[in-house]
Amino acid sequence: MSPTPTTHRRGPVAERIRAAPTSATVRIADLAKTLKRSGVDVVDFSAGRAAEGTPDYICQAASEALLGGDTHQTMAQGKPEYRQACATKLLRENGIEADPETEIIASFGCKNGLALALLAVMDPGDEIIVEDPGFVSYAPTIQFFGGVPVPVPLRSEDDHRWREEELRAAVTDRTRAILFCSPHNPTGVVHRPEELDTIARVAEEHDLYVISDEIYERITWGGREHICIASRAGMAGRSITLMGLTKTASMGGWRIGFVYAPPPVVEAMVTLQQHLATCVGSFTQVGGAVAFGREPEAALTAMWQEWEERCEYMTRELDRLPGVQCGSPEGGFYGWADIRATGESSEELAERLLRDHHVALVPGSAFGPQGEGFLRITCVKSRADLEEGIRRLREALDR
Ligand code: GLU
Repeated sequence: MSPTPTTHRRGPVAERIRAAPTSATVRIADLAKTLKRSGVDVVDFSAGRAAEGTPDYICQAASEALLGGDTHQTMAQGKPEYRQACATKLLRENGIEADPETEIIASFGCKNGLALALLAVMDPGDEIIVEDPGFVSYAPTIQFFGGVPVPVPLRSEDDHRWREEELRAAVTDRTRAILFCSPHNPTGVVHRPEELDTIARVAEEHDLYVISDEIYERITWGGREHICIASRAGMAGRSITLMGLTKTASMGGWRIGFVYAPPPVVEAMVTLQQHLATCVGSFTQVGGAVAFGREPEAALTAMWQEWEERCEYMTRELDRLPGVQCGSPEGGFYGWADIRATGESSEELAERLLRDHHVALVPGSAFGPQGEGFLRITCVKSRADLEEGIRRLREALDR
């Protein structure tokens, strides 16, 4: 028998969480898993998780460390070897010379990196500019820590890119940072140099931090280049760069990433990490050091090439469905499908697809008001899943 919950005068949970939305990406992925466990054959395009697991050469290094006794907590900032590998990666791939002693901290993926970043620089009441549509966890995370998310629209008619005047208009004297993601989740836009320079200019003029979520940075398509905003002239001192291996090395279950930031910010994050989590997992840092430190091996680069083909295939097939328009992403691995011509809202359609056709995906409205009229579809599932998913979507929309 479960105990009767105590009634608290102020309610059972804190105010900060009462009004918070659940994470649509994680909730729908969990729901798809639950349905699968109960025997429903769900094709799951919801969370950004690829069909492939982590390449063997990375797993090998971590499992050797684990079996070799690397089972103790590490420095709060992360193992020196891991931070060195992150610095090596930044130099090799992003043209950034980072000091692993003072400018890098290990994080549990980018969500933990974001939490540390916000706690390190944002006071209660501070405003953080975010994108609409933008990743589902940004606004709630800002709010948990007493900040105020200020959305700036990325309009579909502008190809989901910032309008400089709208970005500028969002700045007030409480603004502390601009938070953005490139390659962008959910729209797949890769920021061009001139867009980064606009963000940099606004940040410099108003003395703001830029928090740059670069979780998809190694997967850009059509020969496009990812540029790290911290590498633009004068930006290293005001950029907080979040990087991780969840997406690009299919290491989502490892929870491993890092933050590159100016020394006082990293110092604050180390204090926070000491209290909040002590450190990131020891052997996961060993795997992370291999994934970041070494030149990407063929197992990784072949996977990226395969993903580009799957993204092209999937978005082309989506674009052929009745009432759907979908271009291919410039980076990352989501199809951002315009479903306005179907006449259904993104929430209604996503619900109907899951309920009646057992296809899980994320309604665009979960990413903000500008996401309404779109669905986000993860394109790096197995080829068999992509084909079956398209067959079911066609069945659902051909009516
Ligand atoms: N970030 C991924 C996504 O957008 C995974 C889910 C999550 O961590 O929220 O689907």
